[in-house]
Amino acid sequence: MNKQEELIKVAEEINRCRKCSLWQQATKAVPGEGSFDAKVIFVGEAPGFHEDQKGIPFCGAAGKLLDKLLVLARLKRDDVFITNVLKHRPPGNRDPSFEEIEACRSFLDRQIEIIDPKIIVTLGRFSMVKFLPNVLISQVHGQPRFAQWGERELIVLPMYHPAAALRNGKIMVEEQRDFRKLGAFLEKLEGKEKIEIKKEEKTKDKEQLKFSI
Ligand code: URA
Repeated sequence: MNKQEELIKVAEEINRCRKCSLWQQATKAVPGEGSFDAKVIFVGEAPGFHEDQKGIPFCGAAGKLLDKLLVLARLKRDDVFITNVLKHRPPGNRDPSFEEIEACRSFLDRQIEIIDPKIIVTLGRFSMVKFLPNVLISQVHGQPRFAQWGERELIVLPMYHPAAALRNGKIMVEEQRDFRKLGAFLEKLEGKEKIEIKKEEKTKDKEQLKFSI
């Protein structure tokens, strides 16, 4: 199977998934979309109302902002992969539960494995804690880190969630700055320029993760 076929297989499994109860109230699953060859994967929290209706990630107000932010990073939406920690919408857009995150975990893990991106951009704290459980978003946003992920290290760039930027003007300014930095960072990566990236502490165990959520 090639990368595209493998991603389609994961998406089909997500569409059929009954590992938690979210599917019962959802209209459509939202596996994610974009390039199977993406250098960047963006990971949000969970589908909202519009995403649930269409089965497309980030297609509501936060998604419209994300589209503009991608331009600041000199990225095209078609060239990246966009997905979420949860693949079905939590009712009323409530926060994901620990059990729901656990039930969905393998889908995001497999998407990362298949695409094998150069960098993962987390949008908001629910996706950030998957990779960087010991940090505060207010202190690390916009700063790439090496995160241990199974046997390997991934470069993870934590960002604020675009919805937070829509609610708060100060966060919006920082978000725009962080996306510009992402563009510059990617250029350096492409140019094989030496980049200083902080290494993150080992991932916490599940109990601590639960606490931090
Ligand atoms: N917020 C998210 O975290 N993900 C989406 O897909 C849409 C809004």
